[in-house]
Amino acid sequence: MFATVLSLACRDLQLKGRPGLQTLQMTSSLRRSYGTTENNPSSKEEAPLYDVVISGGGMVGSSMACALGYDPNFCGKKILLLEAGHKKNLDIMPDTYNNRVSSLTPGSATLLSSFGAWEHICQKRYRPFKRMQVWDACSDAMITFDKEGLEDMGYVVENDLILTALTKQLDAIADRVKVLYRSRVVRYKWPSTYQEADASPWVQIELADGHHLQTKLLIGADGPNSMVRKSGGIQTVQWNYDQSAVVATLHLSEPTENNVAWQRFLPSGPIALLPLSDTLSSLVWSTSHEHASQLASLDEESFTDAVNSAFWSNENHSEFIDTAGFMFRSSLSILNPTGTSTRQLPPSVSKVDPNSRATFPLGLGHAAEYIGYRLALIGDSAHRVHPLAGQGVNLGFGDVASLAHHLSRAAFDGKDLGSTRHLLQYETERQRHNLPMMAAIDLLKRLYSTNNALFVLLRTMGLQATNAVVPMKEQIMAFASK
Ligand SMILES: Cc1cc2nc3c(=O)[nH]c(=O)nc-3n(C[C@H](O)[C@H](O)[C@H](O)COP(=O)(O)OP(=O)(O)OC[C@H]3O[C@@H](n4cnc5c(N)ncnc54)[C@H](O)[C@@H]3O)c2cc1C
Repeated sequence: MFATVLSLACRDLQLKGRPGLQTLQMTSSLRRSYGTTENNPSSKEEAPLYDVVISGGGMVGSSMACALGYDPNFCGKKILLLEAGHKKNLDIMPDTYNNRVSSLTPGSATLLSSFGAWEHICQKRYRPFKRMQVWDACSDAMITFDKEGLEDMGYVVENDLILTALTKQLDAIADRVKVLYRSRVVRYKWPSTYQEADASPWVQIELADGHHLQTKLLIGADGPNSMVRKSGGIQTVQWNYDQSAVVATLHLSEPTENNVAWQRFLPSGPIALLPLSDTLSSLVWSTSHEHASQLASLDEESFTDAVNSAFWSNENHSEFIDTAGFMFRSSLSILNPTGTSTRQLPPSVSKVDPNSRATFPLGLGHAAEYIGYRLALIGDSAHRVHPLAGQGVNLGFGDVASLAHHLSRAAFDGKDLGSTRHLLQYETERQRHNLPMMAAIDLLKRLYSTNNALFVLLRTMGLQATNAVVPMKEQIMAFASK
């Protein structure tokens, strides 16, 4: 906490090359004297001023716009959402499922429900899952997660449908949240001299069509290559995994209840099957770039064979690991007879939807700070994770819930929305949640990327032990479903 405060102070000191202490004193005195530049009679033809501008109308930015727009404490505030792409509206759902889907936690569903978007999703289509089974391709070790009384563990929803639901909710409050589609931001500018700050202490925004805007608080939701983050001078820790994810929509060999999310860790990367309907599942297969492009170009039959073999083949097993794992599992079941869970067999796949295959490069990224001068980052602009835990957009929705909560309190108290005080509360809260999650995902990715016997043995025992200790599994589930 102290380190964060210190780093913020340093950041303010460095703010756009301006002496920070003076910056803080200057902006607060400016605030006192001007209130807003809308009231400044000396300024001519000023760019329109917004209380909040959200840059990036993906799933996370659009949710942020809804969360603020539906909050009574934001009544009368000027909110703008800027999105470079076009408006998403799936009034008539296509019969075929989109290949981009997200597994959402109950916590994300609660957020979407808080402003009515979840109801649209439920009216269209989504698939709840009741259980998760994760297992190692190099041994018999596995872990299962499910909840008492077969409660839903999560929901699989098409990304386009999530965006459509958010768009519908934004349309319904067009008088409270202005949305500009096909509006790409080309420049963000913070005041860098006293003269500029005198003219306006706000963040200046320039659009590709030449329009200028200004805002008291800029929320960056513009994805992993965030221009907001770069323009705000926020450092990022990032690396590529040298892996791509192959996604596809798959047909199952026969109809099933299909309420389990499956994931198998292959030495080349994890392969996951998420339920879409009784007969369809969505594939996310992370593997080397070369293998991914081979998979993407295979004919449909060979691709289906490759998927089935990735889930079923035991070619990476060794007798030594199998025996050691069996002995360890037997000892655990003697010590803790209630801690073992039954292994289920994954469904087999009969074919792949034509044209549903696509590949996405994978990487990790984490912004050293989530906030700056009149600036907050949310979603992938602040953190990017490997999809193996299905957490990316869930972390982003967690950011939305947290930032909306702190801004709502500030609005209720009549405070300056861009003030560092409540932005810092947001940053602390989210970094405490996101950092351990990101570290765990990265560790899992590395631990399972090898078939070295020692590592396989260690992770086999670790996974079996975790599976046997029910309270530990419950803690993991509670943390991951927030
Ligand atoms: C294969 C794969 C599977 C995944 N599965 C899951 C899963 O199951 N569960 C899960 O939780 N997560 C999953 N994720 C992660 C999830 O997709 C991302 O975390 C999520 O899409 C991030 O949303 P976002 O709104 O933050 O960013 P983005 O989706 O990148 O949206 C950013 C938006 O900003 C706009 N923009 C960018 N620059 C500008 C600009 N200059 N001006 C105006 N607009 C701009 C873009 O047009 C875009 O609409 C997966 C990711 C991958 C690759």
